[in-house]
Amino acid sequence: MINGEKLVENPIRWAMVGGGRESQIGYIHRSAAQRDNNFHLVAGAFDVDPKKGKDFGVKLHVAAERCYPDYKTMLVEEAKREEGIQAVSIATPNGTHYEICKAVLNAGLHVVCEKPLCFTTKQAEELANLAKMKNRVVGITYGYAGYQVIEQARQMIANGDLGEIRIINMQFAHGFHSEAVETENPSTKWRVDPNIVGPSYVLADLGTHPFFLSEVLLPKLKIKKLLCTRQSFVKSRAPLEDNAYTLMEYDNGAIGTVWSCAVNAGSMHEQKIRVIGSKASIEWWDEHPNQLRYEIQGKPVQILERGMDYLYQEALVDDRISGGHPEGLFEAWSNLYTRFAMAMGACDRGETLNDIWFPGIEAGVEGVRWVENCVRSADNGAEWVEYQ
Ligand code: NAD
Repeated sequence: MINGEKLVENPIRWAMVGGGRESQIGYIHRSAAQRDNNFHLVAGAFDVDPKKGKDFGVKLHVAAERCYPDYKTMLVEEAKREEGIQAVSIATPNGTHYEICKAVLNAGLHVVCEKPLCFTTKQAEELANLAKMKNRVVGITYGYAGYQVIEQARQMIANGDLGEIRIINMQFAHGFHSEAVETENPSTKWRVDPNIVGPSYVLADLGTHPFFLSEVLLPKLKIKKLLCTRQSFVKSRAPLEDNAYTLMEYDNGAIGTVWSCAVNAGSMHEQKIRVIGSKASIEWWDEHPNQLRYEIQGKPVQILERGMDYLYQEALVDDRISGGHPEGLFEAWSNLYTRFAMAMGACDRGETLNDIWFPGIEAGVEGVRWVENCVRSADNGAEWVEYQ
């Protein structure tokens, strides 16, 4: 149970790049990082517009002299301080992640980076090598993975409750971009511009979320080959897709699918993962994140609820309140940020924590690799490709 007692010796001195006033994702980063005093926001380059960034930073209680016009200035100036920043979260549009992440690691700081980490597997592996060389922690904000019933699902699979795993069906299929909303909405505009998002829209923006959940639930599963087809139903988005289907064969004979879609008219999110074993299946839906459906062949459906004693102990560790009270996305993100902080603290003490997991640099690399393979298949006429 999390009750606010400290989990890191001292709060980590923390800065943000991006996540400015009108951004979609900035607030949840700040809320998750600061919730249990694991991080203190002391600096930032919050906005692409330096004036707006400074004004916003000051209103977040950051000292005016530590609200910087850009991340490069921030890294130089903070390095001069005795008590300079120790970690940076990157919440800018996708095309900037690679260079900012590289600069932050080169400055010897820990990183939390938004997904996708970058555009190519080569770049991602370069960042992973750099993080290793500098001995720094990189967290990736696949925030849904912080839900407690995801841990329950992971334990159930590891303990053989489902039997042998045969099928994994995944989807993230919302309807918010069924029309060309990008003409009015700046946060959507860059998402459909290949110069800013690189080779993919919905595969990277949406599909990587349930794909990461599958890596959490089934850490040993390896993709052998994959087939992907992608479409731009709003024609102006071509060559970027607003819908994609991916079919995967795993090395143990299991099969998986991912439906990535932003034109599922009428749908709020429809992010789901269903894992089907030889004895039973489980299903999780992010619109009902405190519940896990457990279906044993021949028996009535069970809905497992967060915070209840019948769950595996590991699924109770991150509860902030007893079952029945809904927890949500902000708590899920806080759970991950807590683990980022614990890993950073341990790293600074020269220790490694083996009893916690979180989406780290490997998750960032694997997300980029998956998108790259999907795009390669789709752009070769939806042919099967060996997973590289
Ligand atoms: P947004 O367009 O709403 O906001 C981007 C912010 O970054 C703005 O404040 C902008 O001024 C700032 N910015 C842009 N370039 C900058 C630079 N060079 N230096 C400093 N600030 C800069 O975008 P968003 O929807 O918040 O997405 C940001 C990132 O978060 C994207 O990579 C996106 O994929 C990711 N995201 C992740 C999740 C998740 O669930 N993990 C959800 C939404 C968005």
